[in-house]
Amino acid sequence: TAARDVQSILRELGLDGQLSGAYAGEWIPTSGPELEVRSPGTGEVLARIPQAGAAEYERCVEAAQAAFLKWREKPAPLRGEIVRRMGERLRAKKDALGALVTLEMGKILQEGLGEVQEAIDIADFAVGQSRMLYGLSMHSERPGHAMREQWHPLGICGVISAFNFPVAVWAWNSMIALICGDACIWKPSPKAPLCAIATTKILAPVLEEEGLGALLGLVIGTNEEVGERLVADRRVPLISFTGSTRVGREVAAKVAGRLGKSILELGGNNAMVVTENADLDLAIPAIVFGSVGTCGQRCTTTRRVLVADAIADEVERRLVAAYDQVRIGNPLADGTLCGPLIDSHAVEGMQRTLEEAKQEGAELVYGGEVLSLDGDESGGHYVKPCIMRASNSMSVVQHETFAPILYLIRVADLDEAIAQHNDVPQGLSSAIFSSDVREAERFLSAVGSDCGIANVNIGTSGAEIGGAFGGEKDTGGGRESGSDAWKAYMRRQTNTVNWSRELPLAQGISFG
Ligand code: NAD
Repeated sequence: TAARDVQSILRELGLDGQLSGAYAGEWIPTSGPELEVRSPGTGEVLARIPQAGAAEYERCVEAAQAAFLKWREKPAPLRGEIVRRMGERLRAKKDALGALVTLEMGKILQEGLGEVQEAIDIADFAVGQSRMLYGLSMHSERPGHAMREQWHPLGICGVISAFNFPVAVWAWNSMIALICGDACIWKPSPKAPLCAIATTKILAPVLEEEGLGALLGLVIGTNEEVGERLVADRRVPLISFTGSTRVGREVAAKVAGRLGKSILELGGNNAMVVTENADLDLAIPAIVFGSVGTCGQRCTTTRRVLVADAIADEVERRLVAAYDQVRIGNPLADGTLCGPLIDSHAVEGMQRTLEEAKQEGAELVYGGEVLSLDGDESGGHYVKPCIMRASNSMSVVQHETFAPILYLIRVADLDEAIAQHNDVPQGLSSAIFSSDVREAERFLSAVGSDCGIANVNIGTSGAEIGGAFGGEKDTGGGRESGSDAWKAYMRRQTNTVNWSRELPLAQGISFG
């Protein structure tokens, strides 16, 4: 039945025939090196995609630019109306697309469906935002003058996405970019290209009805042929990059070199502070969801727990008991809480980190093994989530390993917890568990967490779309999704209008 399910999912999303790696208002035949897509849960080949090269990339950019010139003239609320129809298409395909996220990326079905829901939510958010692209009016120092600031469409937004959120990351960017009047070109991760093809097939027809399909350009190609070309392209004023800090640093330098704009959403090293005043009935499940969810492959995964000495033994005992209940296996199956890692490199990376951690003196508390599951003849990439006792200064703790490894770090008090919390290169998401309002407010204050996201009595992962999402330091400083993140997708213009019959100069200057 599993095999039939896979075929029916692919068929429902139009992925069962010959596939193309490029969309520029129409699907362009591609004939580059074939990209083989395997399911991380079973190793099964899901599809083979001939990749796009320089010529197809060029067609996408030219078509996107032409579409942008028309799109920017459409009033923003009417752009919002079109995005509203996209949200409806996503709703209709939520089940199939959510299942595809699970098949291709390996997160459990509940999380796959949740990811598509996030794309629907941001479409809804964008519809409302389309009527609220507010500028400001200022008081001019000159009589008979008006001053204001307005926001105009920017151009093409290049979206380079990571494998772990193969639909939502793109949706955060493109739904907002569209209502802002921009075109998008998407270079998805080569580890999750089917989600990109399926999403484009679901949504582009809404724009095709307007003759503007090219606003949702898609290019699946190698980093050398397509990724680097997009990053270097002066016709693309904004690059929104989501991925590792290592690649993000290179991308940021190249975009800055041509004075382009970038939004950087890079790696995290997220911690939860658990004080003596924590309600452990909340903290324990939050830690388990944060560290084991998506098999430790979220940018907001809980990687460190900074726990007060006095309760550390109890927290450790309860965590081990909870980890023992986590069902690991086929991510499509009911009841599974932890699916596979994305590929064999991720499994090797995790094992290497565990070795290094032991050499640095960390102690294994639970798990870490590579699993070969009963009835799994093909080799899914399953591991047992792991807990280690460690100290914050260890080099393994300072790095993001994209796997379910949780470091338990004991601290004497809140001062020490905050100091260690901030003493890592990354600054994405953070949380404190405490029922003491003084402790909680301190963590959120200027002398508390240095992260872009700081929570009280909820975990580090699972952000809502209404807030601005992103982080500081090595996480890159970008903000996406809600709040005023839309401003990054537009250009700001300051206007001064003289409606008097005089020509006074600013700063009282008299000239001639
Ligand atoms: P990655 O850095 O390996 O790849 C990200 C994307 O960059 C992929 O599409 C890849 O093909 C592309 N790429 C690689 N080299 C390139 C180049 N030279 N030029 C242009 N593009 C290039 O990351 P990954 O393994 O796919 O994702 C995991 C990482 O992403 C983790 O570090 C995770 O924390 C981070 N992430 C961050 C956020 C966030 O919002 N902060 C969200 C999701 C994932």
